[in-house]
Amino acid sequence: MRSISALCLFALVSSSFAQADWTRYRLTVRDAIEAQRLSDSDVTLFSDDVVIGSTDVVIGPGEQFKLWALGMPYQRIATLPDPAGWDQRYSNKTLNYRGNYYRYDDIIAQYEEWRIQNPTHVKRFQIGTSILGRPIWAYSVRSNALFSGARRSFVVNCGIHAREWISPAVGMYVFKKTIDSAAIGFADMTTDFSKRAMLRGSTFYFVPVNNPDGYEYCWTNNRMWRKNRRDNPGSSYGVDLNRNFAKGWGGAGSSGNYSSETYRGTAPFSEPESQALVFLENRVPRIDAFIDFHSYGEKILWPWTYTETPPAGSAWLNASSIAMRDAGAATHGHQYTAGQGSTTLYIASGTTKDYFYDRSNAAAYTIELRDTGQNGFLLPEAQISDTQDEAWAMFVALAVRMTNR
Ligand SMILES: [Zn+2]
Repeated sequence: MRSISALCLFALVSSSFAQADWTRYRLTVRDAIEAQRLSDSDVTLFSDDVVIGSTDVVIGPGEQFKLWALGMPYQRIATLPDPAGWDQRYSNKTLNYRGNYYRYDDIIAQYEEWRIQNPTHVKRFQIGTSILGRPIWAYSVRSNALFSGARRSFVVNCGIHAREWISPAVGMYVFKKTIDSAAIGFADMTTDFSKRAMLRGSTFYFVPVNNPDGYEYCWTNNRMWRKNRRDNPGSSYGVDLNRNFAKGWGGAGSSGNYSSETYRGTAPFSEPESQALVFLENRVPRIDAFIDFHSYGEKILWPWTYTETPPAGSAWLNASSIAMRDAGAATHGHQYTAGQGSTTLYIASGTTKDYFYDRSNAAAYTIELRDTGQNGFLLPEAQISDTQDEAWAMFVALAVRMTNR
C-alpha cells in the first residue's frame, strides 16, 4: 500500500514537469459507466460529445493527474496551441466572412449591414440578454410575396457552444444566401412552382451567436471554452447550454458537477441564453424546422438524443438527413454521416433538438460541421468557405424537403 501511495505521489509531482503544454489525448471509453464518469469529470473535452469507443480530451499544464484519475486507456494525439490570446492573433485584419472568423461585434455588424441593405426581407429583434449583459439577437428573412397559406418557421441556431467558431461563420453565409434567395422568390432552391410558393410562405430565423459571452471569452481568454459564463458556486464557471433544455433534462450524458464540461445547470432553462430560444419559440406560431450548427465530426443528427428509442417520425427525419448528406457531399466531396443522435454518438440529455422535436414536432437537426478530427473545433480559416458551401446545400435540401412534410 505504501509503495502504491509513494508511486502516486511521485507521479503527481513529476506530472508538473512532464506536462508543460496543452495536449490532446484520445481516451478509450469502454462502456456507459465510463462515459458518464467522463461526463461528470472536470476534464476539458476536445470532442463535442462523450462517445463510447473513443473521446478526445484536453490536458493542460499540470493536469496529467486528471487523465490518470479517469482510469481509462489513453494515447497522446497532438500538442495544442496555447488557448490564450487569440484576439491578438486575429487583430488588424481586413475581414471577409468567407475566409475569417469574426469577433461577436463584427458578426452583428455584418448582419446589420445586410439587414439595412434588405429592409423588405430582413428584420431583427432581441430574444434575450446574456449573463454578462450582451444582447442575443435573432434575424428573420422572408420573401415579400403575398401568401395565403399557413406560414412556416425555420430556425437556424449558431454558436451555442462557444469554441465551435465555424458555426457562427456558417450562419453568416447561410443567412446571406437566404436573403439573396428570398429576393428571387427562392428560384435557386427549386424549379417546382408549388414548392417555391411554400418557401415564399416560410420565415427563416437566424440566431447569429446564441452564447456571446462564451464566444468572446474564447477570443480573450481561452480558445477551448465551451459553456456560457455562469458564475457557479465553488469558483467554477459555465453551464453547457446544450444540456439545459427541458426534454430529458438531468439524464445521462449530462452532469450535476459545476466544473464538468456537460454541466446541465440547476434547472431546465436556468440560463438566459437557453431562455432566449424559448423567447423566439413563443414569438412564432410554431417552429417547423430547426438546425443547430456545431463542430466537429461531419455528422447530421436527428432526435432523440436523450434515449436510444427512435421517435415516431424517424423515417422522415432519416430520409431528410440523407438528402442533406448527399446535397452537402455534392459540393466539395465531404460526405457527412447521417443518423439518430443517441445511436450515432451517444446519449446526451437536455439538448436543443430534442426540445424542439418534442414541442412542435420540428424537423430538428444537430449538424456537426467540419472536420472529422484532424483540427476539430480549431478548424483553419482556409476551410471556412467550403464548409459554408456544404452547409448551405444541406440547408436548401431540408427547406425543400419541408415542402413535403
Ligand atoms: Zn457543440
